[in-house]
Amino acid sequence: MSFWLDVVVAAPAHSGIPGPLTYESESALSPGQLVRVPLGRREVLGVVWAERSDAGGLSAAQRKAVAGELGGINPLSAHWRSLIAFTASYYQRALGEVALAALPPQLRELDTTGLARRLKRQGPPSSTPSQTAPVRPVLSGQQADALRVFETADRPALLFGTTGSGKTEVYLRAAEQVLQADAQAQVLILVPEINLTPQLQSRLEDRFAHLGSDAVVALHSALSPAQRLKGWLAAHTGRARLVLGTRMAVLASLPGLRLIVVDEEHDPSYKQQEGARYSARDLAIYRAHLESGATQRMGSQALAYRVMLGSATPSLESWQACLSGRYLRLDMPARVGSTAGAAHPTVRVLDMAQQPKGAVLAPPLLKALAERIGRGEQSLIFLNRRGYAPVLACHACGWKSQCPHCSAYRVFHKLDRTLRCHHCGYTDPVPRGCPDCGNVDITPVGRGTEQLEEQVSHLLATLERPDGSPVRVSRIDADSTRLKGALQTQLAQVHAGHTDILVGTQMITKGHDFRNITLVAALNPDSALFSSDFRASERLFALLMQAAGRAGRQAGQSGVSEMWVQTFHPHHALFSALQRHDYEGFAREELLHRQGAGLPPFSHVALLRAEASTQELAQDFLRAAAQAATTQGLPGAQKVQLYPAVPMPLQRLANVERAQMLLESDSRPALQQFMAAWQPLLGQLRNQAPFRRLMRWALDVDPLGI
Ligand code: ADP
Ligand code: ZN
Ligand code: ZN
Repeated sequence: MSFWLDVVVAAPAHSGIPGPLTYESESALSPGQLVRVPLGRREVLGVVWAERSDAGGLSAAQRKAVAGELGGINPLSAHWRSLIAFTASYYQRALGEVALAALPPQLRELDTTGLARRLKRQGPPSSTPSQTAPVRPVLSGQQADALRVFETADRPALLFGTTGSGKTEVYLRAAEQVLQADAQAQVLILVPEINLTPQLQSRLEDRFAHLGSDAVVALHSALSPAQRLKGWLAAHTGRARLVLGTRMAVLASLPGLRLIVVDEEHDPSYKQQEGARYSARDLAIYRAHLESGATQRMGSQALAYRVMLGSATPSLESWQACLSGRYLRLDMPARVGSTAGAAHPTVRVLDMAQQPKGAVLAPPLLKALAERIGRGEQSLIFLNRRGYAPVLACHACGWKSQCPHCSAYRVFHKLDRTLRCHHCGYTDPVPRGCPDCGNVDITPVGRGTEQLEEQVSHLLATLERPDGSPVRVSRIDADSTRLKGALQTQLAQVHAGHTDILVGTQMITKGHDFRNITLVAALNPDSALFSSDFRASERLFALLMQAAGRAGRQAGQSGVSEMWVQTFHPHHALFSALQRHDYEGFAREELLHRQGAGLPPFSHVALLRAEASTQELAQDFLRAAAQAATTQGLPGAQKVQLYPAVPMPLQRLANVERAQMLLESDSRPALQQFMAAWQPLLGQLRNQAPFRRLMRWALDVDPLGI
């Protein structure tokens, strides 16, 4: 007797394999089981999705049998499969593509024996849990309150805690409760980037040492394939009790999942930017919803809704969800240990129009930095642009260091005297003279962190530290930290007090718990004020608040800490909100503006993107797609507005022309329905001349940059 199974395999939406494939099997296999199946001439990993009663219309010649089962581990749970199915459908991708991308790549190469070997290599669960009880601080009043409310929450919670309010401790306690209550329970903690918070993993390991040495597992893309498989298996077998991961971890198999924490929930890196462009934050909400529904059905007492988003500057989507009552807000307005209110750094906005022309650092800021150095305190200067100068130019003929492959300038890096494209990577030595007119006097225009480091060192060269030694300036950005471990080393130097002034990009503004920094300066963040991206000011505000949060983290210093902003627009509302440390005021204004303009979170948007060798072809495809939607009268179409096709903000990347078209609707279901019906038409269109020459097209649901 044989059985019929629907199996999903890795196949992108465009491959013509939209759903599961049917295979024959000699034994009954349950849904969620990992199998190896023939596909074309290859044998690939698949996931049994459902049992079926017949061959689904396959002719005898078309029938193929499952090649083997990946035994030895439990099937992927029904919850996991629901999560994957939702992700695929919501983000308009093929089921198999999403399912297989959520599994560790090495799993594709293993058979049952190989898998058994891997499982064995994990060894028996650590039998020597630490006997010493974890050292835990006494909770502050607001931490205890937040936890108490969270315990009985019946909806997703947003922990709105100012920088330094002790959000991490709240996450840890919430995790502890869940893990203690149930020996099978698992907790998922999502962070934007693991490398930027190396302290967190060790902190978790210390705190949960009593659960065994391998109870805490990290899952992120910087792991080797073997480490990733190991971590994934630990999560899937339930041996990992706490998983710390980046966005990909939201799709991990966690059969005992009881709590999801999304730290810095506003961070753009939660949105995947290729393939299935999912938002890990939004999926965390969905996943918690799935899991809590199940707990409820199982009759567990006092169901608590187990997802906590945390931020000092929540995304306006989450904030609006609190205002409308969909999410529950937990407030922590004060910094840990502050006695007099919140004790935030004083924000000083410097009008650069009033400062000496061309000043790198305005004299008052320079003076403030000098004072800090004299007192042995550290300062941080934030400039969101790496390299020496963003453009190299010839003033004789107007030549600029344009990238030949992109619609962008190449950045001048002085250290190795190169021009580098930060988009496609194209790198050249700096020419001796202007390539167009031969003028030898080509000059850097604008300033990046490399130049800033040089200039700051120069400006402070005559000063001394309290011990009489010269001032030390260091820089942290993607260039200085290219080598493995470099970031950790550099951060350690800052923590150890070897640095007086730390210069860097937004890398240094995130999460770090610097203890001795009392001044933070942001240089000319103005461009974001006038960006065409409607989220630019939201992001800038978050970035500046977060940067401010690096100052005065030591209790005694919070009163004297300062944040300086050098700008040509000192009266901009964003800066006054920053001065008041007023996220709520900022959010109110911004939401009013969004509502007026019909932008998210008050509407729902998606982008159709196309890439081709010419801009014309890319846009033609988008227009033809819109045309097809109109003539076919797709469901939901009355409620969906299609905007004109336009070039993407970065129009040309690595010789590829890119165009996009915005879809907008008041109704999320209408937009979803419309895209689902549109998707097959887009596939057909692409197979017609002239669109066969198109390189790629894709839908991006809830896109970030518009
Ligand atoms: P946030 O993530 O909200 O910016 P952190 O979680 O980094 O803040 O906490 C700020 C600092 O306060 C950290 O050094 C942390 O160890 C410390 N801290 C947190 N909670 C407590 C507490 N209850 N008692 C003493 N120190 C605490
Ligand atoms: Zn020239
Ligand atoms: Zn380029």
